Amino acid sequence: MTVIPYGRQSIDAADIERVAEVLRSDWITQGPAIERFEALVSDYCGGAHAVAVSSGTAALHIAAIAAGLGPGKVLWTVPNTFVASANCARYCGAAVDFVDIDLATGNLSVDALRAKLDAGPPPDVLVPVHFAGRPCDMAAVHDLALAHGFRVIEDASHAIGARYGDHAIGGCAHSDMAVFSFHPVKIVTTAEGGMVMTRSAEVAARLRRLRSHGIDPGAAFAGDEPDGPWSYAQAELGFNYRMTDMQAALGASQMGRIEDFIARRHHLAARYDRALAGLPLRLPDRGGEVRSALHLYVVGIDRQRTNVSRRQVFDGLVERGIRPQVHYIPVHLQPYYRDQGFAAGQFPAAERHYAEALSLPLFAGLTEDDQDRVVAALHELLA
Ligand SMILES: *Cc1c(COP(=O)(O)O)cnc(C)c1O
Repeated sequence: MTVIPYGRQSIDAADIERVAEVLRSDWITQGPAIERFEALVSDYCGGAHAVAVSSGTAALHIAAIAAGLGPGKVLWTVPNTFVASANCARYCGAAVDFVDIDLATGNLSVDALRAKLDAGPPPDVLVPVHFAGRPCDMAAVHDLALAHGFRVIEDASHAIGARYGDHAIGGCAHSDMAVFSFHPVKIVTTAEGGMVMTRSAEVAARLRRLRSHGIDPGAAFAGDEPDGPWSYAQAELGFNYRMTDMQAALGASQMGRIEDFIARRHHLAARYDRALAGLPLRLPDRGGEVRSALHLYVVGIDRQRTNVSRRQVFDGLVERGIRPQVHYIPVHLQPYYRDQGFAAGQFPAAERHYAEALSLPLFAGLTEDDQDRVVAALHELLA
């Protein structure tokens, strides 16, 4: 019996052929496949500029620099996220603070954000996270950003393919930048990979420079003629965050199936909704004028209706050949952030979310038979 993971990639023969074509070509790192992949994602997201990089974390890092973060500046994000959403500020020498979440969605609480803005100075940058692929209330975030003068970088690592009203997430209709991750458990994959989206051509050019050592291919030395055709000018301190052409070819091939991936996730989520309805679980809130990308299907173990703990359910699933996951250990409780003065009790909704949350297997390649095994195991454990 193979173990059913909480998430995994879906790779088909065409994906493999596209990668093999790159391997047989002249370019294996940042070349024509990158441009094709960027153009596909840009079109898919309504025309925003797309800058491919080596990971979602690298995307967050250069987005944080492009948003002006540095020593003396402050980034706010939610505790219910992966550490990278906060770490990008620390890479730049900026400080991190958190805004609590709505328990129902796991997303940034706009009420908590408003209260924090009323109580003290605004951040320089806010990073809302579209948890599990469900868009945050971006219109409210955008209004507050305009009123208080902060920038917004969406951590859309879970959310390529999500829609907020008429807008594709990644189109940056309500933000300065948005960041995707193409890690294998995410909606589409490039093995490792990420992307920064922005509507600003200027910011996109800066991001392209930052991903490649701070070198501007077109730029000459200030005021000087280039030495010759070999010249390149490093304008600022950048990184090697380039994506390879093999990865981009895989990503471009996967983009051809993104709507199928998301439809499949919705089909499976609706099956979970029906099959788990009678159990002492809080099922994910999937309503509203948004389309979730459904990266995760997160249930809450409702301790008012069962004596079975989240740990018992987790272990019981593992014994039955199922490997769920927990999203997320609140970032402010990580030892690194406790060392910066954060403590338990500061963000109660995120802490309660963590105490009860369990991410069930959900990925495009999950079969209904395997999903039924998960459902049967939960009925056994929670009966
Ligand atoms: C996956 C993820 C990241 C980091 O992406 P990588 O591609 O793994 O570097 C950042 N934020 C969130 C919310 C994620 O889920």
